[in-house]
Amino acid sequence: MSIQENVLQIQQSLPKNVTLVAVSKTYGIDAIKQAYNCHQKDFGENKVQELINKYAQLPKDIRWHLIGHLQTNKVKNIIAFVHLIHSVDSPKLLQKINDEATKIQRKVSILLQLKITDENTKFGAQKSEIIQMLLQYSQGKFPFIEIKGLMGMASFTDDIQLIFNEFNILKVFYDSLQDEYKFTTLSMGMSDDYPIAIEQGSTMIRVGSKIFGKRN
Ligand SMILES: *Cc1c(COP(=O)(O)O)cnc(C)c1O
Repeated sequence: MSIQENVLQIQQSLPKNVTLVAVSKTYGIDAIKQAYNCHQKDFGENKVQELINKYAQLPKDIRWHLIGHLQTNKVKNIIAFVHLIHSVDSPKLLQKINDEATKIQRKVSILLQLKITDENTKFGAQKSEIIQMLLQYSQGKFPFIEIKGLMGMASFTDDIQLIFNEFNILKVFYDSLQDEYKFTTLSMGMSDDYPIAIEQGSTMIRVGSKIFGKRN
């Protein structure tokens, strides 16, 4: 199937409250344009330099999501245009985003990334760390940041029950915070697991290979 067919099929299958972020990492400008021509406006990248290059070459009504790990020294390169940063997992990064956003007086939207797997990944914060960050946020420490919700990545596995349990952990945690922090966005689900994520209450899925084809 073509990129267009893939995008349309996924778009049409989603509940109205779920946003599709097309993950275009490693794919070229032409591939992105094909998806864009199907009214796909949200795109996700995991590397800052690639995000900047694509932003420069593509229509300005695209909403760019940074979904991968973000180093503090690169925040300034995307702060002026990024639509949503999904992967904030430390107070240090939160502070840096707020500092750079303050300089240009632009309020920047982010999600806090919860570590929901036991896999050996460096990324994602523990629940206690997220609560700590939210506390500082509610005390007004980050006036140029808007925390919209949470993000998580399930284990890379065929074990559907495990993926279900991991998404459930994220959803229960999200629900416990949603009212107090006015959360709107729960980013969970990728090509292989987004139907499970939607069943578990995801409002934003990040789909790459199912749209663009397998990456090398
Ligand atoms: C690559 C990536 C995705 C999309 O992965 P697919 O399996 O190709 O859909 C989603 N989220 C993050 C954080 C990624 O790095």
